[in-house]
Amino acid sequence: MDIHTHSVILDKDECIGCTNCIKRCPTEAIRVKEGKAKIIKNRCIDCGECIRICPQHAKKSISDPISCIHNYKYKIALPAPTLLAQFDSKVTPGQILGALKLIGFDHVYEVSRGADVVSNFTREYIKNATTTPLISSSCPAIVRLIRIRFPSLIDNLIPIESPMEVAAKLARQKAKEETGLSDEDIGVFFISPCPAKVSAVKNPLGLLQSNVNNVISIESIYPLIKKKLDEVSDDIPEFYDSGKAIGWARSGGETFSLNIENYLCVDGIDHVIEVLDSIENENLKDIDFVECLACVNGCVGGPLTVENPFIARNKIRKISNEYDVQKEIKLKQTVDEFLYSKEIVPENVRKLDDNILKAMKKMEQIDMIHELLPNLDCGACGSPSCRALAEDIVLGYSDLDDCMVLFRDKVNCFLQKHHMVLNDENNVTEDEEFKNTRYE
Ligand code: SF4
Ligand code: SF4
Repeated sequence: MDIHTHSVILDKDECIGCTNCIKRCPTEAIRVKEGKAKIIKNRCIDCGECIRICPQHAKKSISDPISCIHNYKYKIALPAPTLLAQFDSKVTPGQILGALKLIGFDHVYEVSRGADVVSNFTREYIKNATTTPLISSSCPAIVRLIRIRFPSLIDNLIPIESPMEVAAKLARQKAKEETGLSDEDIGVFFISPCPAKVSAVKNPLGLLQSNVNNVISIESIYPLIKKKLDEVSDDIPEFYDSGKAIGWARSGGETFSLNIENYLCVDGIDHVIEVLDSIENENLKDIDFVECLACVNGCVGGPLTVENPFIARNKIRKISNEYDVQKEIKLKQTVDEFLYSKEIVPENVRKLDDNILKAMKKMEQIDMIHELLPNLDCGACGSPSCRALAEDIVLGYSDLDDCMVLFRDKVNCFLQKHHMVLNDENNVTEDEEFKNTRYE
């Protein structure tokens, strides 16, 4: 499998090359060339910021179609707690889970069950930690961001799989015991609020292979659930009523479930970057735990949801309060089974050359070219900043003429040399002053 398979893609036909997206990308993964955006695969963390900003809806997230469930004998739906906040507040969690069964799933196993396992582990891990602050590893976009932009903070990540992975492992094990079926016959389908989780299943970090088979977006399954709500009768699946675990869907929810006091919660990718900068500069060593979520408001703000994130956040708060309990899942295995089994290693996306001497030479060239550029960071060249353009030029992806300001100056110089000017319609005409002196 391509190690850089991503959920977020560009629909070239829709892109008009407006450059709106290049500045929003937190990892400078987008360039606009020949009038179309391009995503540099190894830099993309699937945060979905470009999906939100694109006025043409040219950036999209690819997830699996609902029809994929028919590839398995036994189908398990793994709904993220965010799903509960997408419907009218009169619709009960039990009805939503019941509707999933009517769509064709044999069993529903909520991700909130995995969230409680992770909370219990994290609480103990914080008590014995020597590194501070510890950073939650629950948001896959943040884990990838740390790997690319803040590799020195990898050791601050809590080394446990995400609630989605923990729930998938528990659900699969339960299904095998109850049905006697083999792994190949059991399909586990995560119902996702965000593209980062789609990519986390296709290219997992911290583990060799995901326990989830396919990821279905909330926005694609929402109309199907809505249609079935009225048909849900008495066959309501058992609802896992752990308010604190459901609360994970909104920012601050994970921390609330930990019952700790010395923490920091931050949501929205720009704010997260500021906080990670502070941690990297050792300014937050007195904090025990930092919850970082790429989307504003947390998972309820994911780009694959349908409800307004603020309204959804409020609904999650109400559901959490209604089921105000902290549950403890009785595990048949030790928690070690859910810890990272593969080291997370930094990804140096800015590597200039394998040869250190050549890399240093290229760095010098970048500095020199950067000096020449106007430092406006206007994005008109198709690179997100003047520094990024300098890098692109040295790596051979761009040209100095891509800078509109330098190009305009160059054109003006040429025109002056040849006693010409641009008129209001941008047509070249002979300089009147020169013409007069010439013909006098
Ligand atoms: S925002 Fe980016 S993807 Fe969307 S039209 Fe503009 S350049 Fe293309
Ligand atoms: S998904 Fe995020 S990281 Fe990837 S290209 Fe879009 S804005 Fe950049």
